Amino acid sequence: MDDLIYDTQPQASHFVDGAYLEDTDGIPIDVIYPATGEVIGRVHAATDEVIDKAIESGRRAQAEWAAMSPRERGRVLTRAAQIMRERNRPLSILETQDTGKPLQETLVADATSGADALEYFGGIAAGLTGEHIPLGADWAYTIREPLGLCVGIGAWNYPTQIACWKAAPALACGNAMIFKPSETTPLSALKVAEILHEAGLPSGLFNVVQGAGEVGGRLTTDPRVDKVSLTGSVPTGRKVYAAAADGLKHVTMELGGKSPILIFDDADLEDAVGGAIMGNFYSSGQICSNGTRVFVQKGLKDRFVARMEERLKGAVIGDPLNEATNFGPLVSARQMEIVEGYLKAGVAEGARLVTGGERLDRDGFWITPALFDGVTDEMSIAREEIFGPVLSVLEFETEEEGIARANATEYGLSAGVFTRDISRAHRVIGKLEAGTCFINSYNDAPVEMPFGGVKMSGVGRENAKAALEHYSQLKSVYVRMGRVEAPF
Ligand code: NAD
Repeated sequence: MDDLIYDTQPQASHFVDGAYLEDTDGIPIDVIYPATGEVIGRVHAATDEVIDKAIESGRRAQAEWAAMSPRERGRVLTRAAQIMRERNRPLSILETQDTGKPLQETLVADATSGADALEYFGGIAAGLTGEHIPLGADWAYTIREPLGLCVGIGAWNYPTQIACWKAAPALACGNAMIFKPSETTPLSALKVAEILHEAGLPSGLFNVVQGAGEVGGRLTTDPRVDKVSLTGSVPTGRKVYAAAADGLKHVTMELGGKSPILIFDDADLEDAVGGAIMGNFYSSGQICSNGTRVFVQKGLKDRFVARMEERLKGAVIGDPLNEATNFGPLVSARQMEIVEGYLKAGVAEGARLVTGGERLDRDGFWITPALFDGVTDEMSIAREEIFGPVLSVLEFETEEEGIARANATEYGLSAGVFTRDISRAHRVIGKLEAGTCFINSYNDAPVEMPFGGVKMSGVGRENAKAALEHYSQLKSVYVRMGRVEAPF
């Protein structure tokens, strides 16, 4: 499979009812390679006809899929996981072209993570059961049933991973899914659909339709849809949650963050710096769970900043398709402008730009990794999600102060603690308001561990057994063994 290279111009815009589908009446969407700004493909947003076909085929296929044994469903997913692993390199190259993320990253964090999800939920499918509930002479039982037709809406930072993290538990539980990738990165989800069908997924169960928010909105509000799972920003999350509420649909919301990392004086300096690099500069900082507020205790702060500055010199910025590159461009011109705006705001509000934050004089959307020191809680760079390579260092003195300041945000996706004191590590994590936490590490996302946020960062969990709760519902059945007593 290593010689397989995918064309960046897909066969057609959509994948519906087991086959590629085109409708050039839809609004054209250019696919841009972020490293050069070149147009490398074009798709069309879904028209009403395409959406209707996706919904109708999804509903039809779901009824048959739900009637299959969970083990048979699981086998399709594990087969897809295997194909995905075999094609990791061509899938990674395509992901790099779609997102600009370095191949060094996409080879280990995208299709591989998608395959992990397919394998995990494929394996767990056969274990999906209800409960027996003894009630004396009578008894009850529960049946775990699918929700029906689910819609997945993705962000642009991890297109393959997001498609698989949503599709795998949905399909394992007996649902169908229509997936709408971000309009910025439309390519990889089509390959996920190809692979699932090659693995034996019946037609209609995983449909991919393209388009921007408007298409997402039409899917969310359609009464034939039972659930919406969104990965995106908080403003979009509010809109999608509200629209889904109108139809009383189930939701999973994986939204933004402004997560804290607390680094105590006794932390291992190299690990803390490494963790903060993973939590700020991987994928050029375009990760929802990033620990962008790095609180460093006073005794270690200056050494931390000096060592971070030194290690940032190790960033290899260049052609993302060269495996030696470890830092790529931002995904789009718009994202680059947003990041530049925050860099200016940081300086204007009085933070010290230690290094980076420069726009490179070349085509594409390049900004070097930026390190700010002397950041205070009120600055916009400490309050708002930037979604770019901008690390803010904030100094703190006591544990209580660190925790209180870390929690002083509307977000609650992730949090990390670096310390050698194990009691403190668990005590602090216990008090941090975040859904996904790390001790002496940052940004690990194995499929076995639930992932998601609290507060404005989200509703529900992806991955692990927790995700099954969000793609299935219980039917309770009371069984009377004796006579029915009625008052008249
Ligand atoms: P976005 O909110 O702009 O878009 C996300 C998706 O929602 C896109 O597919 C978009 O087309 C769609 N959309 C927009 N408006 C819609 C509407 N009214 N109805 C239905 N769908 C609509 O986000 P983005 O810029 O693509 O991604 C970046 C954001 O995503 C960041 O805030 C980041 O933190 C978040 N994110 C969260 C996670 C997580 O798991 N928590 C993961 C990755 C990214």
